[in-house]
Amino acid sequence: AVPPGIVASAEVEQSYIMVKPDGVQRGLVGEIISRFEKKGFLLKGLKLFQCSKDLAQEHYKDLKDKPFFPTLIDYITSGPVVCMAWEGDGVVASARKLIGATNPLQAEPGTIRGDLAVQTGRNVVHGSDSPDNGKREIVLWFKEGELCQWESVQTAWLIE
Ligand code: GDP
Ligand code: MG
Repeated sequence: AVPPGIVASAEVEQSYIMVKPDGVQRGLVGEIISRFEKKGFLLKGLKLFQCSKDLAQEHYKDLKDKPFFPTLIDYITSGPVVCMAWEGDGVVASARKLIGATNPLQAEPGTIRGDLAVQTGRNVVHGSDSPDNGKREIVLWFKEGELCQWESVQTAWLIE
């Protein structure tokens, strides 16, 4: 269940997007935020954050039996990440398209991974894979009060 106050509305679709430590180190934070901003989704939460191993393991718990799990946890905890909550109808699937395939060599040009990365183990960004996981991950990475309830002046020009 989503704690009261952490999200504007449990009815609205949200995705948890994260610039991974390689994206932060490579100076890609602005570029990556910009792709979602320009698309027209609504930014509800944003922070630079050093995560613990426990949090990384919880976030990626579905992958805990994969051979790459220990290196994945080392990677995600190797430096600060940028945590974001983005909102809008269809944001989860659309963000996955903007991000591109898990393996950056297979990601289409024009996608974040297709344009900015070369290896699966350094693929610069995370995006939730379902609306349910979007909620789960936002609750995991943000504390109550860290998301903002606001309306963008652009909304009337984005949605008829
Ligand atoms: P995503 O949803 O596209 O991020 O991909 P997955 O959910 O399948 O995997 C989560 C993350 O684990 C990926 O983004 C990669 O950072 C990492 N990962 C997945 N597969 C591999 C792999 O085969 N090798 C390594 N080193 N990392 C992987
Ligand atoms: Mg995934």
